[in-house]
Amino acid sequence: MTVVDLENVTFAYGEQPAVRDVSLTVAEGDFLGLIGPNGSGKTTLLQLMLGLRSPDSGSIELFGEPVSSFEDGERIGYVSQQATSGGGSMPVTVREVVTMGRFAHAGHGRLTNTDHAAVDDALETVGITDLADRQINALSGGQRQRAYIARALASEADLLALDEPTVGVDAESRDAFYQLLESLNADGITIILIEHDIGVVTDRASRIACINTDLYHHGDTESFVESDALTEAYGASGQVVHHHH
Ligand code: ADP
Repeated sequence: MTVVDLENVTFAYGEQPAVRDVSLTVAEGDFLGLIGPNGSGKTTLLQLMLGLRSPDSGSIELFGEPVSSFEDGERIGYVSQQATSGGGSMPVTVREVVTMGRFAHAGHGRLTNTDHAAVDDALETVGITDLADRQINALSGGQRQRAYIARALASEADLLALDEPTVGVDAESRDAFYQLLESLNADGITIILIEHDIGVVTDRASRIACINTDLYHHGDTESFVESDALTEAYGASGQVVHHHH
């Protein structure tokens, strides 16, 4: 089953393409690491995949449907960069945020015991049961990240798309967070992760897409490590962050 299918996708904000002629597929169960230097088009590509931007040319399918007519939003959990850093000003509790993930499943807006149980399960899976009644804005970046993942789990999302989810998160929480992602992936959830730390990506992801406007590599992690794609895509920019455990 193909989760995302891009064919010859090009997108420009102005004159210069941010993403040029990219073709790639994400299969069910993949853990795809999306890497490239700063400003290389990673966020743009992720937003194109999810239908948040329309390509100038090329085609995009999500779960086998043209992304422009895709309506099963609850199948996708998207955690943008803003979700980690900002948090917004909505005075809502963690439980309320996670409960929002259930509304797509609740007929006529009434939540059943099953819905409440799904919320409890999701809070427990990501390890924030004890934070359920706290305001979302009062959480640390890493805790907030987990709350958004819990919301996606409560909605039974089968694709998690994460844009630099551990910016501002301390090393220990970051490790625990990536362990959580690995176990969710082992349970069958497809993951697309933007992460600037190449070491983390090659440790955790099963597949890599390496871009710098153009796609330099798409394939399994081993073939990426053995290839020259990293040096080619990063050029002389010297932005590569290596991180070894
Ligand atoms: P990355 O996620 O790899 O840092 P982005 O996809 O955010 O890269 O950006 C790719 C390029 O597009 C960059 O040159 C960036 O400055 C530009 N860009 C990103 N968002 C916008 C926008 N909303 N308007 C104009 N240019 C943008």
